Amino acid sequence: MTETLIKGLYREGEAIVDAKAPQGPLEKRWEQRKFDARLVNPANRRKLSVIVVGTGLAGGAGAASLGEMGYNVKAFFYQDSARRAHSIAAQGGINAAKNYKNDNDSTYRLFYDTIKGGDFRARESNVYRLAEVSANIIDQCVAQGVPFAREYGGLLDNRSFGGVQVSRTFYARGQTGQQLLIGAYQALMRQAKAGTVELFSRHEMVDLIVIDGRARGIIARDMVTGEVETHIADAVVIASGGYGNVFFLSTNAMGCNGSAVWRAHRRGAFFGNPCYTQIHPTCIPQHGSSQSKLTLMSESLRNDGRIWVPKKAEDTKKDPRDIPEEDRDYYLERIYPSFGNLVPRDIASRQAKNMCDEGRGVGPEIDGVARGVYLDFAEPIQRMGKAQVSAKYGNLFDMYERITGENPYEVPMRIYPAVHYTMGGLWVDYDLQSTIPGLFVAGEANFSDHGANRLGASALMQGLADGYFVLPNTINDYLADGPFPAVDAENTELKAIQKENTDRIAHFMSNDGNRSVDSFHKELGQIMWEYCGMERTEEGLKKAIGMIRALREDFWKNVRVTGKADELNQALEKAGRVADFFELGELMCIDALHREESCGGHFRAESQTEEGEALRHDDKFAYVAAWEFAGDGEAPVLHKEDLNYEFVHMKQRSYK
Ligand SMILES: Cc1cc2nc3c(=O)[nH]c(=O)nc-3n(C[C@H](O)[C@H](O)[C@H](O)COP(=O)(O)OP(=O)(O)OC[C@H]3O[C@@H](n4cnc5c(N)ncnc54)[C@H](O)[C@@H]3O)c2cc1C
Repeated sequence: MTETLIKGLYREGEAIVDAKAPQGPLEKRWEQRKFDARLVNPANRRKLSVIVVGTGLAGGAGAASLGEMGYNVKAFFYQDSARRAHSIAAQGGINAAKNYKNDNDSTYRLFYDTIKGGDFRARESNVYRLAEVSANIIDQCVAQGVPFAREYGGLLDNRSFGGVQVSRTFYARGQTGQQLLIGAYQALMRQAKAGTVELFSRHEMVDLIVIDGRARGIIARDMVTGEVETHIADAVVIASGGYGNVFFLSTNAMGCNGSAVWRAHRRGAFFGNPCYTQIHPTCIPQHGSSQSKLTLMSESLRNDGRIWVPKKAEDTKKDPRDIPEEDRDYYLERIYPSFGNLVPRDIASRQAKNMCDEGRGVGPEIDGVARGVYLDFAEPIQRMGKAQVSAKYGNLFDMYERITGENPYEVPMRIYPAVHYTMGGLWVDYDLQSTIPGLFVAGEANFSDHGANRLGASALMQGLADGYFVLPNTINDYLADGPFPAVDAENTELKAIQKENTDRIAHFMSNDGNRSVDSFHKELGQIMWEYCGMERTEEGLKKAIGMIRALREDFWKNVRVTGKADELNQALEKAGRVADFFELGELMCIDALHREESCGGHFRAESQTEEGEALRHDDKFAYVAAWEFAGDGEAPVLHKEDLNYEFVHMKQRSYK
């Protein structure tokens, strides 16, 4: 480990290697790993227990699959029903390399698009596996009865998402996540009925139990009674989703938080690429300063909708319908003629920001700048007819009208980028195991296969790949060494973890502060958006770290948590989550500061091409940044995992 602090903020430790990564021909690697992974026979599975935190697509699919295999599963989630996990909000679709459109798609092309889309910052082996199992996911979901959209002849329909030139996105109108989640939920409930899965609704994991270096369970708070419970198992799976709400305003559900992954990080799990955040280009613009949520308009709308701003700044206040064609700038079609409106999200977002920074944004001004661009359906309505447009996108149009009061069939929608997804997450090896033996991480919660930028419709694919296909084949290799020794209630490590959590709750309840949790969260979010959002600079990130530290200190002194600990108490729940967001936000800024290059969603203003595109520095930064927690007040330690490209040639991304 480096003796002196780098940039005054972090140290560098030993390189980290993915010891489970198979070698050999790319297309044989997953098969090889499955064969090499040890098995647990059915009779022994009944003696082993697994805790799954999260019942979204990743956790729901994982818990159902592990239950079906015969393990004893306990599934935890903070909603009242597993069906309410944030995955329900996914609108647009799920990718799979089935080549139904006969447009020259293949497993290799999905692999290639994903590696390129992620700006060459993901592992080749993982991404190939993801592309390989993508087709199985669709078969699995169809068998469950998921009502994917079909063509007139009855075959499954596809549409396109950003960063690709084929149609490989399967969808269920604008409710794909909901329908997929119902499929996973049915599978989960079948196991609940069979007795292999026990469900713990309204339970929040507040800590990870690590004993003798292994993950052995969780501390969970019953959110209704306030009871702090200890649950022990042979292995733990965290599938708790993304941490985009560190920005306060995001398209994520209000409850989404980073606490499960952050608490595990504090117990020893390395955090991979925390600064990789996805800003989605098509969201309904913020309309005021008291707003607490942003709404996504699905990327699928970019299949037909055309994005533009007025050519002249003086036209921005006009009714868009009065602006003639020759005065409109369809800037994505102009700058990227090959991909047009379907460039990847990071690129579309940055260009929207550029247009608004130039003074050509539309809609109401916030802090003196109109932050909106048009997404126009006039041409598709003319071409396909209103009924056809409505059949494809009707529920999205209705949602837009309910929120804005404007009818998108008549007037172009206004959209602007917003925080949407986090590519960073807990570091995992090829088996999805973290640096803590026995702790596995699935779905958006892990540092994922998407590199520095996720392509649209690939999160659902990854969550379900992890839950239905990867975990059930890799976790056995670990559990084959179990059952692990029983954990005594008097175990000193356990007692220390329990005490830390009850003390933390006691602190919040007794702190006689004067500021609400939400007000701290909002201020933290503003700092993150301003300095660690769409564009980052060395100066801004340093400033943000100082501001976050000062605000965090104030938080611990002055936060006011009302109510009681032994009852339903949302202020207490939020206090714990915001406390974790402070630490996570700081690590995001440190990671963004150390990565002196631009790649995907991480745009450092100092590192751009002459045309304003992200400029990578592969000679210095072709690695995964895996951060180790070194203790409160201590500088985090960076471990680098080299990314070796054997099959794809790394080059400057081009969508022109
Ligand atoms: C508006 C929107 C639309 C999207 N549309 C698409 C799309 O069309 N296609 C696509 O591929 N992706 C889409 N995404 C991304 C995708 O929805 C998510 O990445 C994905 O659903 C995450 O699934 P998950 O299972 O990892 O986590 P989630 O679905 O977020 O589930 C997290 C689970 O963890 C539980 N949990 C969290 N913390 C705790 C804790 N401390 N204790 C106990 N339980 C906990 C929750 O209760 C929940 O059950 C969209 C995202 C958004 C925001």
